[in-house]
Amino acid sequence: MLYSKLFGKTKKKVSQQFEAKSHELLTKAGFIDQVASGIFNFLTLGKKVLTKIENIIKEEMNALGAQEILMPSLHPKTLWQQTNRWDTVDVLFKTESQLGQEYAFAPTHEETVTPLAKKFIKSYKDLPLALYHITAKFRDEPRPKSGILRGREFGMKDLYSFHENKDDLKNFYQKVIDAYLKIFKRCGLSNIKITEASGGSFTKKFSHEFNVLTPAGEVDLLYCQKCSFAQNEEINQLKPGDSCPKCKGVLKKDRAIEVGNIFDLGTRFSEAFDLTYTDKKGKKQYPFMGCYGIGTTRLLGAIVEVSNDEKGIIWPFDISPYQVHLLGLDLKDKKVKNMSYNVYHQLLNHGIEILFDDREEVSAGEKFADADLIGIPIRLVISQKTGKKIEFKKRFEKTPLIIDFSELISKI
Ligand code: ATP
Ligand code: MG
Repeated sequence: MLYSKLFGKTKKKVSQQFEAKSHELLTKAGFIDQVASGIFNFLTLGKKVLTKIENIIKEEMNALGAQEILMPSLHPKTLWQQTNRWDTVDVLFKTESQLGQEYAFAPTHEETVTPLAKKFIKSYKDLPLALYHITAKFRDEPRPKSGILRGREFGMKDLYSFHENKDDLKNFYQKVIDAYLKIFKRCGLSNIKITEASGGSFTKKFSHEFNVLTPAGEVDLLYCQKCSFAQNEEINQLKPGDSCPKCKGVLKKDRAIEVGNIFDLGTRFSEAFDLTYTDKKGKKQYPFMGCYGIGTTRLLGAIVEVSNDEKGIIWPFDISPYQVHLLGLDLKDKKVKNMSYNVYHQLLNHGIEILFDDREEVSAGEKFADADLIGIPIRLVISQKTGKKIEFKKRFEKTPLIIDFSELISKI
């Protein structure tokens, strides 16, 4: 991609006040654009990152044996009345058709996935079943102020599973926890804190939250500095400085962003929609259900919150919009220009995703600043100074290397 042709450019000055670093950086670097409070456009760069995150999620969901479907965002009122949630979910966006029929803009999809599964689940042979989709969700959040960390319309992957019994659900649930940790790691987040939101006895429902530690978060976490123990602050007796109930390490308190949330739904929704299957003895039973969410757009924001410096974003390699950012300096010099375009096309031919800053009227300083702001992991510079060689620098490193083209591919 030629930077001169890229839709969405970096912005030096933005009049808006930002409460979240990710909101500021993603806006200034040209990844997102705010339509209204809690509602965003994703520009070319932002959409590329989002697609990469979604693809990682899809791979790990498919590896669990889950199947991707697509359910609608417009839900008839009757479905939400059937679960008693039409009047009780305060963030439900509602609308009315020309004919006076009422609908909700879906904030989650139990109300469609359960009746859908009911059309296909007949016997124990049809279980277990796991279905997921990635769509926009709508929630009438009272005061969305942290950019894409809390939207009124936002992206979510939601997975729903159906099981013969609680043990089978527990088994699958554990596999989803592992898959989630893989997803977050592949997205560059290895320090995820999992909090458990219930007593964990067999009869009780269980739920887990996946949290990224950052001051931009909205939840307070107490976590152990040595082991994986973590708890939500509001629900426990422990304080910072106490010793960890698991390993005797010291507990610390920090803010965190919840990027994923998984629940044991029990038979609440299968009962509400009278979804049953015939078990091995010929008896009708309600399947046990689990639901598993990841906020895709919030995850993108959370990654930026933890992966940046004073100059801009630092993208983890696997989700960066491009792998390489090539800066052509002194492009009015024919030799430099030829070499820059040559390197650009050769890297493209090698299947490398590359953004080429081909602007001729822009100073070197401005190009360096833009590259740091956008945050692509590898920066290459070709200029009068580099001659036949190429300057190579990783975004998080200070000093560049000078290398030959022949070394370039293997280094990338
Ligand atoms: P929160 O506690 O932050 O309000 P939640 O517990 O209501 O979120 P879930 O209903 O479990 O969220 O949704 C699954 C995931 O969707 C969350 O873990 C989060 O990553 C994401 N999410 C929820 N609400 C929003 C929002 N308003 N904007 C962006 N992402 C969201
Ligand atoms: Mg939550």
